[in-house]
Amino acid sequence: MEAVQVSGQEFFHQGDRVAVLTAQPLDRLLDYRAPEGGCFRGAFVEVPLGPRKVLGVIWGAGGGNFDSAKLRSVIRVLDLAPMRDEMRQFLSKAADYTLTPMSMMLRLATRAPGLSDPPSMRKVLRLGDTQPDRMTPARAKVLAVMEEFGGMAFTPKELADMAGVTPSVVKGLVGQGALREEETPRDLPYPVLDPNRPSKDLTEDQSRAAATLSEGVESGSYGTTLLKGVTGSGKTEVYLEAVAACLRRGRQALVLLPEIALTAEFLKRVEQRFGATPAEWHSGATMTERRRVWRMVGQGNAQLVIGARSALFLPFRDLGLIIVDEEHDTAYKQEEGVLYNARDMSVLRAAMCSAQVVLASATPSLETWSNAEAGKYKRVDLTARFGSAVLPVMKAVDMRAEDLAPATWISPTLKQAMALRMQRGEQSLLFLNRRGFAPVTICRACGTQVACDNCDARMVEHRFMKRLMCHQCGETKPVPESCPSCQVEGKMAPVGPGIERLGEETAALFPEARIAVLSSDLFASARALKARIEEIAAGEADIILGTQLVAKGHNFPLLTLVGVIDADLGLQGSDLRAGERTFQLMRQVAGRAGRAERPGEALLQTFQPEHPVIRAILTGDEEEFWRAEAAQRREAGVPPFGRMAGIILSGSDLAQVFDLGNALARNDGPLRQVGAQLYGPAPAPIARVRGRHRVRLLVKAAKGVALQEALSRWVKPFRMKGDLRLSIDIDPQNF
Ligand code: ADP
Ligand code: ZN
Repeated sequence: MEAVQVSGQEFFHQGDRVAVLTAQPLDRLLDYRAPEGGCFRGAFVEVPLGPRKVLGVIWGAGGGNFDSAKLRSVIRVLDLAPMRDEMRQFLSKAADYTLTPMSMMLRLATRAPGLSDPPSMRKVLRLGDTQPDRMTPARAKVLAVMEEFGGMAFTPKELADMAGVTPSVVKGLVGQGALREEETPRDLPYPVLDPNRPSKDLTEDQSRAAATLSEGVESGSYGTTLLKGVTGSGKTEVYLEAVAACLRRGRQALVLLPEIALTAEFLKRVEQRFGATPAEWHSGATMTERRRVWRMVGQGNAQLVIGARSALFLPFRDLGLIIVDEEHDTAYKQEEGVLYNARDMSVLRAAMCSAQVVLASATPSLETWSNAEAGKYKRVDLTARFGSAVLPVMKAVDMRAEDLAPATWISPTLKQAMALRMQRGEQSLLFLNRRGFAPVTICRACGTQVACDNCDARMVEHRFMKRLMCHQCGETKPVPESCPSCQVEGKMAPVGPGIERLGEETAALFPEARIAVLSSDLFASARALKARIEEIAAGEADIILGTQLVAKGHNFPLLTLVGVIDADLGLQGSDLRAGERTFQLMRQVAGRAGRAERPGEALLQTFQPEHPVIRAILTGDEEEFWRAEAAQRREAGVPPFGRMAGIILSGSDLAQVFDLGNALARNDGPLRQVGAQLYGPAPAPIARVRGRHRVRLLVKAAKGVALQEALSRWVKPFRMKGDLRLSIDIDPQNF
């Protein structure tokens, strides 16, 4: 029997040969027979695989010369909206780009738990046809609620609560037939967002930006825009207008955020704008909630999703707009499993479904900045902070001229500025991007540093936990009494500052101050952290100490001083992105100060105030900075002016890993054919993790080269023996 086309969708009759993509790590489509009743292309199905039943998607007509008689049948079609063609295209393009097997992409796209279970049901009540034989005031209250929300269904508990009566009253009405029971799926649709509620009055600058973004959305076609504006300039207000325009057209919108901790404040803002809370997608959400989002997004019953990077793989029915907030954030790059950058994949996904992308940032990535320069992306700028708030004054504190006691890190200049804030009842923030108490524990007798047994990393003391911890693999051990190397007792000493140690120093300098230390490992949950942040914003701290965590998006209205303890920290090492990262981080941290009416000041402690990156941070001459960075990268032929890929080899036996690396390097014909250069094998930036050695090869090619194609031809002949693994990282973060 032939497959037939029904309005763009292919239909397969019972017994037809179909190709199924399974969410199992297999690099090919599997052939099955269509189930009883047939199925459409894109249908989610359950298929037998060996002794198991697994989730799959009907990809198209089956092929292959496998004996028809031996084909097994699809077990059943699941009660889920079929995968849309554009999603299938997106997954296969994303798989091609990242050189990932399709099955792994499908797994990303089906990450909601329990998809193959039938939706669970719950009991709800609707108005019945009969009147109760006796009307009491309590009964009348219940019926009044039902009338008021005509047609809506409630659970018995909801109804009793809303009417302010006991559950027995509701039960009585059911018994009388005045209310009738009904089973409905537990996955409730999301409350309706109203894009026509009035927005804030936008400034002229903001209106212009909002109009540009909305125009894009209204065109109904693909386009990407960089929305650049200093912290506090109203980027969020502006892109929410684009969201409104999108919802008005009846299309769905997605806002990607880099950090879960941010969403509480954010959701509140969205609710204020649209009158209801949107759907939320992140790894911390409950199983039930994730399943609900997945289904509702697919049915078009979630208009807006606020999510972490993997929300990009939700089965939107009609996605019209993707906002990538803080688009430069490295959290958008997934470094395990499928190695992808959600910012780049957003652009790909939008192109597949004729949607708009807005990349919002105060400090865009060099990639995005140069795409805008080249005219590939549109660009709109917000230049002023909203209202009376002005950018903080940035100053360097030259540490060579400061007089510091040993094992202290707060310079007299910074201390004085903090004391002034204490006097005025304002807040100070000290930023140090180092978790724990001290980054190094050293033996004063022999100089040995305590290292992790599994990784190529030093153990970091966490006094709060009273243990040493490896930040690579999470392994912990007690602080040793005697040196693990020379056995001398009582000579182990912490070296260098971590955020906890800085806390001790601060408490000694300002014994009367209320000090809040914000570091992810000091909080039991994202919720606890959120709660603490809200308290601090309300003024319940004088001095805030924070790691990277505080650089992003929080609003502390009383904060007027930011002290960066070690502005040079990010500039060490040979990483070509170091300048860009430091620039972004410092600008963002500094942006925390003076968000309300009070002007702010940022002090950067540095040993190299004349370093070009530090100078750019101080003068704030961004375009100049980006041009210089771009020139350097162009010179080096690296992204975004050239193409790059990392090949990470890992295994428990270092010699074997290197052997494989050398074999790859010797057989680099496919790379040479396209003029690509190969570097390595060399120890990877993280050379040993969880007992596995990691070796990296870097491939560099000119812009127009079909790099993925060459890479897959190159690595294909190599078989992974034993526990050897090879993974390919297109556009690596570190090079
Ligand atoms: P950004 O996203 O660029 O950091 P926000 O959109 O968060 O900036 O705006 C900073 C602050 O200023 C927020 O509290 C926001 O509500 C407020 N704000 C910005 N624009 C306006 C406006 N036009 N009217 C009222 N408040 C505004
Ligand atoms: Zn370790």
